[in-house]
Amino acid sequence: MFIISDKLLNKLNCSVCFKYLSVKPIKIYRNRAIKCGRCSEDDDGGVVSLYEKIVENGLFPCINRYEGCMELLAYSSVEAHEAKCISSQYSCPICSSEFSSYHFVQHYKREHSNSLLEKPEILLPQDNEYENYYMYKENDMIYILHVDRGVQTRSPFRLGKRCGLGAVCRPSQIYNS
Ligand SMILES: [Zn+2]
Ligand SMILES: [Zn+2]
Ligand SMILES: [Zn+2]
Repeated sequence: MFIISDKLLNKLNCSVCFKYLSVKPIKIYRNRAIKCGRCSEDDDGGVVSLYEKIVENGLFPCINRYEGCMELLAYSSVEAHEAKCISSQYSCPICSSEFSSYHFVQHYKREHSNSLLEKPEILLPQDNEYENYYMYKENDMIYILHVDRGVQTRSPFRLGKRCGLGAVCRPSQIYNS
């Protein structure tokens, strides 16, 4: 058994639910879509991908890893585990849409890619008034960095810090700390 790397996991997501391809069958379609077993159906025109064979002996992290679930799961046990694993909803600090922690990361990638940090450093624009919520992800932790440079307060920048349960930090928690 081997643990499937984040590098691979980041590349291979279901085109429908955006989750890891950790539930069989993994099917590919003519339009290049790839679906996991949570989303594909019998006789839907998809062809079972070789990817399945490659990761057959691999262990997947749970999709609720950012909420503190550290389980490593074999293909066969993912569905049963997800049915009983706990997941909460979090609201995006930029647009207020609600997501599970796993989709929260995906959402930032798709909708707020300018606020997604590749490394734990930022170059701020020169504007006098500026506010943004950056996301930085490292292993199983998500950090939200609230930068607020108001004219009146001239507050120094505060780096987001890890909050208790491995959950997504609420911006207010970071700002008040
Ligand atoms: Zn899916
Ligand atoms: Zn879990
Ligand atoms: Zn958003």
